[in-house]
Amino acid sequence: MFENLSSALQKTFKDLRGYGKLTEKNVKDSMREVRMALLEADVNFKVARDFVKKVQEDCMGEEVMGSITPGQLVVKRVQDHLEELLGGAHKDFDLTGNPASVMMMGLHGSGKTTSSGKLALRWKKSGRRVLLVACDIRRPAAVEQLMILAGQVGCDVIGPEPGETVPMLGKRAAEHARNAKYDVVIYDTGGRFQVDDELVQELKEFSEFTQPKNRVLVLDAAIGQESVNVAETFRDAVGLTGLILTKLDGDARGGAALSVHAVTGCPILMTGSGEKMEDLEPFYPDRMASRILG
Ligand code: GDP
Repeated sequence: MFENLSSALQKTFKDLRGYGKLTEKNVKDSMREVRMALLEADVNFKVARDFVKKVQEDCMGEEVMGSITPGQLVVKRVQDHLEELLGGAHKDFDLTGNPASVMMMGLHGSGKTTSSGKLALRWKKSGRRVLLVACDIRRPAAVEQLMILAGQVGCDVIGPEPGETVPMLGKRAAEHARNAKYDVVIYDTGGRFQVDDELVQELKEFSEFTQPKNRVLVLDAAIGQESVNVAETFRDAVGLTGLILTKLDGDARGGAALSVHAVTGCPILMTGSGEKMEDLEPFYPDRMASRILG
């Protein structure tokens, strides 16, 4: 990911580093190139515009223009703003509570069930007892998929009983997790191909019944800006504490990763980079910014 963006930025910065002293025109020209590179990487138009404006304002200061290494200082400013764009400090799940609770949401195919399994494995490895709850009462295949993943990662799992509604299942699962002293309960909620009123109502009710501390949306990064729109819809309808971006391995441009925090204000907690249960990494904005700048 970010290959094209990285090489475009590196070319711009190579020119900048070569200047002994910067003029306003040098900075403006290079910022125009940065903006083009961001747009080509499928970054949201407004996000790219605001980003460049901020960096430019910062770079017009005397400190940068009068410095003996102005080019390097501009690069540093870009790095700082990129880090901020990606969310600033690293954010993690809130794993307090008896048990800690995580409600996983997402559109069909986003990687929600896979990510639930990946999280279960991660927390199991850190010594926690994890309960997975299959909440897609309409799709027996989704319940079965989570059962299989639970078997693979070695965690307990429960699913819907005949005639049970989603809120009833949530309530029963929360009680069971508390009584059986699990450390973490992960609710894999139902998916749809698009957000509709019925889904929103179901998720809201579920959230009220189970009161999860973490309300996490799983987003397919490979669908670019569309995933940013999806995130805004879920944030407004249900409320989110964080995001998991999946399929970074299939996303050559990186536009969703670069825009989603700036547009929604929600932190990216983790990223998925493959189909295996180990392919889930915590997201560090500073490391990602360094990777982009090469
Ligand atoms: P759900 O409908 O949102 O629960 O989606 P699934 O968890 O069933 O995932 C849909 C497909 O995406 C499956 O084939 C997964 O193996 C795949 N998948 C999930 N996460 C990733 C990822 O990070 N990278 C890749 N390459 N595939 C993924």
